[in-house]
Amino acid sequence: MRLAPRHLADLDPAGRRAWAQELGYPGMRAAQLATHYFGHLTADPAAMTDLPAGTRAELAATFLPPLLTPVAQQVADGGRTVKTLFHLHDGIAIETVTMAYPDRVTVCVSAQAGCGMGCPFCATGQLGLQRNLSAGEIVEQVRQAAALARDRDLGRLSNVVFMGMGEPLANYSAVARSLRAISEAPPAGLGISARNLTVSTCGLVNGIGRLAAEGLPVRLAVSLHAPDDELRDRLVPVNRRWPISQVLRAAHGYFAASGRRVSVEYALIRDINDQQWRASLLAERLTHYGTGWVHVNPIPLNPVAGSVWTASRPEAENAFVETLRRAGLTVTLRDTRGREIDGACGQLAAKEAKANG
Ligand code: SF4
Repeated sequence: MRLAPRHLADLDPAGRRAWAQELGYPGMRAAQLATHYFGHLTADPAAMTDLPAGTRAELAATFLPPLLTPVAQQVADGGRTVKTLFHLHDGIAIETVTMAYPDRVTVCVSAQAGCGMGCPFCATGQLGLQRNLSAGEIVEQVRQAAALARDRDLGRLSNVVFMGMGEPLANYSAVARSLRAISEAPPAGLGISARNLTVSTCGLVNGIGRLAAEGLPVRLAVSLHAPDDELRDRLVPVNRRWPISQVLRAAHGYFAASGRRVSVEYALIRDINDQQWRASLLAERLTHYGTGWVHVNPIPLNPVAGSVWTASRPEAENAFVETLRRAGLTVTLRDTRGREIDGACGQLAAKEAKANG
């Protein structure tokens, strides 16, 4: 696994300054480059007219090396959903989806190439873990999405969700650094409010604790997918290490520490986890901590080609949601944006990985 080249977005402002000085440049060059990168969303030396003409190209190549090369793009929803397949510097593929809604523009980023968590219904899970992404590679997905949203007149990028490929909390340090670089005001960062960042986990209890201690008001989303350990052990194998009771305790602890309501994600899979008794059990387990701390997001499963897992019938979906609502829980049936373009996380990159053998 070759690490990504070092990039300005891997470091905090003091580290950037020190790096520039180490290489013999005035420390202010780091702040000037950061203004272009985070403030103007550009890494193009031609646009950096405040830098000495003779060193512009060299500075950009050193501090802002290209980390992501777009190799394919799929557009849906009348141009309001754009999925980009990128190659990292070592040729590994990842993907990023930008979605424009009437009130916000959201990008869904990948935190790892592939994923080692092995959930059997998920395209990324079938790939296994290829490698962790660096903080720079994560921030660069957001920077490119912000530039894309601006250039396509979709509006200003306002939200970032870590729901693409990989398990963010299994790549903790890079994710935590990227959260800071995304949320700090320019020129230190991209200036997207930490309250609009969502970190999604399949239930790494130790990572949830670390994130709570980070003191950033980001939203936590927990992919639960089953209310009983017997089924969850199969659907989300990491459950064998951290069972549901521990995951929910940690999630509630996150709410208590951050004051942010936790999202519980539940992929509705036909005849697997969408029965009435499971809806009741889910309601019971969540309301154990009251109703105000959690928001449930059931989402019809986006089927992976060739898989036996498929989305619930609409009647089962509605009955499931009703049961949760009757228990006093806030529930939003998530849309399936991007379904027409290989919408489930990892499907585009998974396809490419398979095609490459
Ligand atoms: S569902 Fe999430 S955690 Fe599970 S394999 Fe897929 S990407 Fe990894």
